[in-house]
Amino acid sequence: MNRIYLDNAATTPLDPKVLEAMLPYLTEQFGNPSSIHSFGRETRKAIEDARAVVAKEIGADAPNEIIFTGSGSESDNMAIKGVAMAYRDRGNHIITSAIEHHAVFDAAHALEKEGFRVTYLPVNAAGLVSVAELANQITDQTILVSVMHANNEVGTIQPIAEIGRILRERKILFHTDAVQTMGSIPVNVRDLSADLLSMAAHKFYGPKGVGALYVRKGVKLAQLIHGGAQERNRRAGTENIAGIAGLAKALQLANAGLAENQPRITGLRDYLIGRVLDGFDHVRLNGHRTQRLPGNANFSFEFIEGESLLLNLDLKGIAASSGSACTSGSLEPSHVLLAMGICHEIAHGSLRLTIGKSNTKEEIDYLLTVLPEIVTKLRDMSPLYNSSRKECATCTLKR
Ligand SMILES: *Cc1c(COP(=O)(O)O)cnc(C)c1O
Repeated sequence: MNRIYLDNAATTPLDPKVLEAMLPYLTEQFGNPSSIHSFGRETRKAIEDARAVVAKEIGADAPNEIIFTGSGSESDNMAIKGVAMAYRDRGNHIITSAIEHHAVFDAAHALEKEGFRVTYLPVNAAGLVSVAELANQITDQTILVSVMHANNEVGTIQPIAEIGRILRERKILFHTDAVQTMGSIPVNVRDLSADLLSMAAHKFYGPKGVGALYVRKGVKLAQLIHGGAQERNRRAGTENIAGIAGLAKALQLANAGLAENQPRITGLRDYLIGRVLDGFDHVRLNGHRTQRLPGNANFSFEFIEGESLLLNLDLKGIAASSGSACTSGSLEPSHVLLAMGICHEIAHGSLRLTIGKSNTKEEIDYLLTVLPEIVTKLRDMSPLYNSSRKECATCTLKR
């Protein structure tokens, strides 16, 4: 059976051209970049070339504004904790949103234990933060704001450029988690007025276990990993050269392919959303209808458990997700859907389908042929669905 992969928000397959760019550093070019000899100089050059590529691709002023890390999660932690610790003599207040990825969310919680005060901005039913509300929450103690560029579960894209402009005026540092947007839509640190920005290679057809953090010149960052002088004393440890070369190549390819892929994937997404909303009763789209990631479709099927949907789709060879990959497997409903005012019961019935560059219309059509059977089968087993009042028993969507 041909499997269909519709979980591109969790991770993407490695592009063969990226693998090709990585291979030399997994074979002949093995020198330690900190070594003085020619073996070391070779791999040092590979890292610095990659840094220049990434800086150029995101509109940074200089290559040394890029720090390579071990993941998107590490980039987020480095940004949040690194800034908090470096600026704690200036203030103890941090603002973030209620729908951040756990890498930001949990880092913020950890800082609360260290005595920082954190404001978690609410979102509306579409998953958008209010820029006015954000501005209201700023105090003379505010040292950092972190709002994600686009949400990994529901795909909503935040007004980051507008937020960035306000914070630049108020001289407050601004971090954005761009892990989902990088390579999917244009991302430029100057347009966004971001001081710090996170990315992860495996979300744009690069390798797993490597990320980067943009840190604008002049921004101080406390060091989290002590040891060597790598990454200008900001992250000790012998570099993942193959990963770094792969990240740079993947970013170059993703951005070069944007003009073609972004509209094509958006078209597939809108086709899928339209067919599902027209074809099923008691289904809703989670997230903003248009201001969303090109490949993201997130539905709640009432009277159904998302996990059951997911397992039944998997039996048909279709890989999807309920909520985010990190929370699947736990029975806690997603904090993102709850923050959007969606009740537990409906949040449990959520299904995330994320389209990538190699998905085809035929694959979406196959999904659309098997989904009705599965939904009907699962609803036939639901006592609530079969009761006379077809309403979600304990809640309605708050708007
Ligand atoms: C995937 C993801 C991360 C974490 O990246 P890893 O490289 O998997 O640690 C952080 N933020 C968002 C929005 C993500 O989608």
